[in-house]
Amino acid sequence: MRTPDYKIQSPAVAERFAAIKRRPVVLEIDRLGREFAGATGPVTALRELSFAVHRREFVCVIGPSGCGKSTLIRMLAGLDTPTSGRLLLDGKPVTAPGPDRGIVFQGYTLFPWLSVLRNVMFGLEMQGRTGTAAEADARQWLDLVGLAKFADAYPHQLSGGMKQRVAIARALAPNPRVLLMDEPFGALDAQTRAQMQAHLLEIWRNVDVTILFITHDLDEAVLLADRILVLKANPGELQEVIEVSVPRPRCIEQLTTPEFQATRRRLDELIHPKLHTPSERLPIVRLTQAGDDVE
Ligand code: ADP
Repeated sequence: MRTPDYKIQSPAVAERFAAIKRRPVVLEIDRLGREFAGATGPVTALRELSFAVHRREFVCVIGPSGCGKSTLIRMLAGLDTPTSGRLLLDGKPVTAPGPDRGIVFQGYTLFPWLSVLRNVMFGLEMQGRTGTAAEADARQWLDLVGLAKFADAYPHQLSGGMKQRVAIARALAPNPRVLLMDEPFGALDAQTRAQMQAHLLEIWRNVDVTILFITHDLDEAVLLADRILVLKANPGELQEVIEVSVPRPRCIEQLTTPEFQATRRRLDELIHPKLHTPSERLPIVRLTQAGDDVE
């Protein structure tokens, strides 16, 4: 793996990374592999994937379609089994879904027949926690995501962004060690998405949770992550690990800073490599009849 030259690390940023690395490893992925039986032979969705995530670290996973992002998150969630390698949470193998992992998917997964409050209480009830203590807990989480006033509303009465905030509260209520997020803002419009990114950063600052966040949005990855794992497809492999040197706390105004732009450029080079050979370019057929060459 080559040493990236976009790293512009101030002493404060270097110290932040050193501090994160001193924390215990929560999630360890060790030579993880997953093969599927495809129509024309085996498909390697992931090969020899290894990395460790430290406590309260925010890691984004990015890569082209088909690089194994969803397969990775499904295995972390305990919904799928690796064909090789190991997956450890606090040193113990992940074999099934459990309350130590909260999950937020792109699609809205709230129960439509339950109120916002009951949706958040659901995970607590699954743990055998009921009654006023569970309700007080759920209300606290709704408060944290800024939806205390909507406790009695039903999902259909909420906007997309609000639904995802409830989904985050529901995922966090059982106090998971890791929050797994699979393109959670992918279905939202650009403005709501930006608001949700800010909300998530604010929530994460106040909660002792480690986040693994899958996205295909380069700006989103740089804005949110401590480190970005860049995967490549066919087979799905780790291409590069990027330490994001943009200082925290992060805000949308940082998008134009040199650190942000340098990291963004590096990601762009990795994800969208330049098309070199003429056969890789699209054939150009001019259909315009405007009569000039102004583009
Ligand atoms: P991503 O989320 O990055 O788009 P996926 O994890 O969905 O990638 O898929 C990685 C590769 O594994 C793709 O080539 C996909 O076609 C293949 N794949 C994923 N799930 C299955 C499955 N259940 N059966 C066969 N092939 C699969």
